[in-house]
Amino acid sequence: MAKSQRLGKRPAQKLKRTAASPARKGASKPGRGADPARVRAILAKLDEAYPAASCALKHENPFQLLISTILSAQCTDERVNQVTPGLFRKYPGPKDFAYANPAEVESEIRPTGFFRNKTKSIIGAGRKIVEEFGGELPRTMEELLTLPGVARKTANVVLGTAFGTACGVVVDTHVQRVSARLGLTAHTDPRKIEQDLMKVIPREKWILFSHQIIWHGRRVCRARRPRCIECNLERLCYSKDKTI
Ligand code: SF4
Repeated sequence: MAKSQRLGKRPAQKLKRTAASPARKGASKPGRGADPARVRAILAKLDEAYPAASCALKHENPFQLLISTILSAQCTDERVNQVTPGLFRKYPGPKDFAYANPAEVESEIRPTGFFRNKTKSIIGAGRKIVEEFGGELPRTMEELLTLPGVARKTANVVLGTAFGTACGVVVDTHVQRVSARLGLTAHTDPRKIEQDLMKVIPREKWILFSHQIIWHGRRVCRARRPRCIECNLERLCYSKDKTI
């Protein structure tokens, strides 16, 4: 019998409790469904389904990806991709944002929501890049985290997609939901989820895994009524949210 089939026979009730159980305060172990053999089986299934998963945000350079990622907070990538071509024509690089008129930037990015805060972030990021990093987007997690509007998720997107550097795992709403359903984490806090995933996913897979899980979350493992009938991970999944 194939290993994945044997894994598929794990008592469902035990894993159901794992996926549904609230995070234990101070718990340091990943989800109980994260044993190495099971994780390997999940990664193989993700490779099978999404061998070439990549970032959906259109960009021509790392700085544009940074701006697009900031704009994607609480917004769809599709909406961001509608806004950024015009935005980047008007403001091609950090120095163009650094001293831009906030009202004009606000009107450009308004469709992405939270446009006042996002304007402050992208103008502030442009200014900091110009004044403290010589006009070049920094390439380390520590430096990126000093930019306004940049937390670990955004920094991981930029480092992984633009620079090919695996510093961590991108944890957005899809990664948060799908990782919990697959039992890879028992936490709800993005930083702790990232730590869990970094423990169980081999480092060389961090970048691709993030893209794959995001694609899976968008296409199949949706927040409402996940399409479990179409899911190639179904035999490995014991989520209480399953629809079959
Ligand atoms: S079986 Fe359903 S809940 Fe589990 S990963 Fe697949 S789509 Fe998501």
